[in-house]
Amino acid sequence: MAFLSIVLDPPAYGWADTNGNLSKPTTGQLLQEFFKRLNIFKTRKNWLPLMSWSKVVLTIPFLYFFIFEYFSWSLLIVAFLYSMIVMGTHGTIWHHRFCTHNAYVFRNKFWRFFTQNLTISMIPEEIYVVSHHVHHAKSDAPGDPYNASGGFLYCFLADVNHQPIAKDLCERNYHRATRLMKHTGVQPNTYEQYLNWGSIANPARTLMAWTLNWGFWYVVLFFIGGHALACTVFGAAGIWAVGVRTFNYEGHGKGKDMRRDNYDFSREDMSINQLWPGIVAGEWHNNHHLYPKSARTGFLPHQVDIAWYYIRFMYAIGTVKSFKDSKTDFLETHYNKVAIEEDEIDLLQVEDLLILQEEKI
Ligand SMILES: [Zn+2]
Ligand SMILES: [Zn+2]
Repeated sequence: MAFLSIVLDPPAYGWADTNGNLSKPTTGQLLQEFFKRLNIFKTRKNWLPLMSWSKVVLTIPFLYFFIFEYFSWSLLIVAFLYSMIVMGTHGTIWHHRFCTHNAYVFRNKFWRFFTQNLTISMIPEEIYVVSHHVHHAKSDAPGDPYNASGGFLYCFLADVNHQPIAKDLCERNYHRATRLMKHTGVQPNTYEQYLNWGSIANPARTLMAWTLNWGFWYVVLFFIGGHALACTVFGAAGIWAVGVRTFNYEGHGKGKDMRRDNYDFSREDMSINQLWPGIVAGEWHNNHHLYPKSARTGFLPHQVDIAWYYIRFMYAIGTVKSFKDSKTDFLETHYNKVAIEEDEIDLLQVEDLLILQEEKI
């Protein structure tokens, strides 16, 4: 726990107040922190969150051309499917289940690279992965980088304000942080490079990977459907990148206890299973908090999990070597247990009624 308490760069308003409760910054404080931590002229160590938001800003011209030059209803359907299902599901498959939770293992580096680049790249792995370990360790407590009790903006701006790694890690702790990223294929900085750049990811390699990914996808989309399709899909990727920043607030009940009995079984945190993120991206978030290392989180019949279908398909064709699946355990330990208890209550009620009737007779 101690390591996860210091691995992230604390915001100026701190994680907790003097009483140990969540420090709730004002909108002004959040915005001030946001722009301070994007300022590359203040320190070059701000480069990674700046790059992440630059990607979002750079999709705006694509979105403009899609809406004002090439708009058609069929392209709108493409944009909808790409931003909601393709990007969302990919985020679950890649950033969440593989990079953070090691829920499955690729046969080799090629299939890892293939899966990583299945979509237009938007979110840097480092920003997602390290902070997400902290999220699981401190869910809904001070220190949780996207603590829903902090409010919408607290979560929406988290990738800049709360998720980057600390800039003052000792060599030992820096190497511990790099180990969280080891299997992802992101080649880490040396400790000396980290002291210079404040990140695990190397700027030159990250910039190169970004350029190649965007270049590849623009060319492929152009050959399929010209600038119209390319602008539509790049614009859609930008919409997703903004939309996904709202998920952590809503996935933990917007700061309220919205957990439902006998449905949201993880009780250690405020996460909830939501229909829309579940269906479009396989994010059954309460199930996920219950079994973070499971490659499947859609455990019940209506809980569609496209990310799991991809992983299972990759396993069937041999490109994924192994995976963890907690469905059986979920049903035995939680779901069926409740069903049996409810049956027992029903039986008891019937027995009570019979006794009452006998007494009347
Ligand atoms: Zn969560
Ligand atoms: Zn997780």
